[in-house]
Amino acid sequence: MAGEVARAGDEGYEAAARSFFATGAPAVVVRPRGPDQVAAAIAHAGRNALAVSVRSGGHSPLGHGTNTGGMVIDLAHLDDVQVLDTGRRLVRVGGGATWGRVGSALDPYGWAVTAGDTADVGVGGLTLGGGIGWMVRRYGLTIDNLAGARVVTADGRLLSASPDEHPDLFWALRGGGGNFGVVVDFDFVAQPVRIVHFGMVVYRLGDPADLMARWRDAMRAAPEELSSTLALPPRAPDGPASAVVLLCFAGAPGTTAGEARAAIEPLRELGTVTAVNVSERRYCEILENATPPPNLRRATRDTLVAHLDDALIADVVRLHAGPVPAAVAVRSLGGAFGRVPADATAFAHRDAEAMIVALLTLPGTAADQEVEQALRPWHAVAAHGTGTYVNFQGSATAADLASAYPAATYARLAEVKRAYDPGNLFALNHNIEPAGRRRHRRDGVTG
Ligand SMILES: Cc1cc2nc3c(=O)[nH]c(=O)nc-3n(C[C@H](O)[C@H](O)[C@H](O)COP(=O)(O)OP(=O)(O)OC[C@H]3O[C@@H](n4cnc5c(N)ncnc54)[C@H](O)[C@@H]3O)c2cc1C
Repeated sequence: MAGEVARAGDEGYEAAARSFFATGAPAVVVRPRGPDQVAAAIAHAGRNALAVSVRSGGHSPLGHGTNTGGMVIDLAHLDDVQVLDTGRRLVRVGGGATWGRVGSALDPYGWAVTAGDTADVGVGGLTLGGGIGWMVRRYGLTIDNLAGARVVTADGRLLSASPDEHPDLFWALRGGGGNFGVVVDFDFVAQPVRIVHFGMVVYRLGDPADLMARWRDAMRAAPEELSSTLALPPRAPDGPASAVVLLCFAGAPGTTAGEARAAIEPLRELGTVTAVNVSERRYCEILENATPPPNLRRATRDTLVAHLDDALIADVVRLHAGPVPAAVAVRSLGGAFGRVPADATAFAHRDAEAMIVALLTLPGTAADQEVEQALRPWHAVAAHGTGTYVNFQGSATAADLASAYPAATYARLAEVKRAYDPGNLFALNHNIEPAGRRRHRRDGVTG
C-alpha cells in the first residue's frame, strides 16, 4: 500500500484508531492522498479480507469510522475545497473535508453550502446520508445541491457519478450512505449566502407541550428562509427546566435586517423568555465544534414525522420527562426540502414536517437490556414517524433500514449495490445488501 499507514505501536496510531464515538483497534489505518492510494487500500483490504471503515469526519453515531481488526480508510488528507466555476458557484470538496473547512473556504466568495450545524462533522458522512442543516427549508438537503461525485468502487475503478454519468450511482449516493464506494470528492452548487441571522431564544419550560405546539404553529407560518430547532435539554434534578429555540434566517442577497427580524419575531413570543441572543453572523461562524462525549452509554434515535400533531407532542413530552435523561430536538423541515420528489434521491421522506432526534444517556456500564428499557418511551414517539434519517440513527437493525428506505427505494439501492459493490466490501454502515444476496443483518442495540 502507498500512502500514510499506521498500525498498533506506531506513533499516532491510538488517535488514528479513535472516532468521535468509538475507540477502535483496527489492524491498520490508511490515510490516502489520492484516488490511486484509495484503490490500493481497497485492494489490500480485499486481499486480506479486512472489514473496511471509511472515515470522513468520524462522527457516525454507530462508531463506523473505526473498527476492530479491520482497515480504516481515513480521508483526512482529501480535504481540498476548490472553486470549479465561479458563474455556477460550482465547488469541488474532498471527501474527507469537514464542514467547518468548507464554510471558511467559501466565506470570501460570499457563498455557503447548506449542511449541518457542526464544524467538525465530515462532508462525506453527512452528505451521503442526506444533510439536514440551518438552511434546509431555504435550500433543501445537502444532497439537493450535489452536482456530481467521484467514487473509487470496490474493484478499484475511479468513476464519476452525475445526472449524465452513472446516474444510478449518483441517485444512490444521495441518501444511500457509504454503501457504494469511497467518494474522493463531491461537486456542490453553493448558494449566495454569507450573512445569516442566527442565534437562540431560551424559554422557561413551564408547559412543554404548549411550547412545542406554539413553535410548530409559528414554523408552519414562517417563511422558508427561516429554519429552526426546538431543543429540550435533559431535565436537571435541580434548577429550572428550560427549552431553547435555535434559529437561522438565511435571506436572499438584499434582504433587509427588518425583514429578518419580522420573520424571527414569532419565535420570540412562544412563552416566558429568559434569554435571547440573535444577531447577524457570517455563516461560516455559526458552525460550532462538538465536544466528544463522556464515556457513557448513549442511544441516539430519530424519526421523521409528516404531522407534528398534539398526540405526538404528548408522547415527546413523556419521553423527555421519563426516568432516563433525554435530550430531545425537533427540527423544522418543509420548504425547499419538501419540493423534491420522493424518488428523485435515495432520501425519500420529503413529506416530513419535522425530524425528532432523541439522545438518551445511561451509565457506561448499562447493559443492552437497560438501554432497550430506556428506549420504550422513544418507541411511542417513533410510532408516529413515517421514516428515519440514517445519519442520526444510532442503530442499524433491519427495521431501521426498512424505516429509512421505503421498499421501492431499498430495492433500487440493492440493485445499485449489486452493480458497484457485489461483494459488500463497504458493509460498516446502514448496510444495503446487494440484490439477490441472502441478508446477514447484524441486529442489536448500538450507539
Ligand atoms: C455532533 C454532531 C452533530 C451533527 N449534526 C448534524 C447536522 O446538523 N445535520 C445532519 O444532517 N447530520 C448531523 N450529524 C449526523 C452526521 O451527519 C452523521 O453522524 C454523519 O455520519 C457524520 O459524518 P462524518 O463524515 O463526520 O462521519 P464518519 O464516521 O466519518 O462517516 C460516517 C459514514 O459515512 C460513510 N462515509 C463517510 N465519508 C465517506 C466517503 N467519503 N466515501 C464513502 N463513504 C463515506 C461511511 O460509511 C462512514 O461510516 C451530526 C452528528 C454529530 C455527532
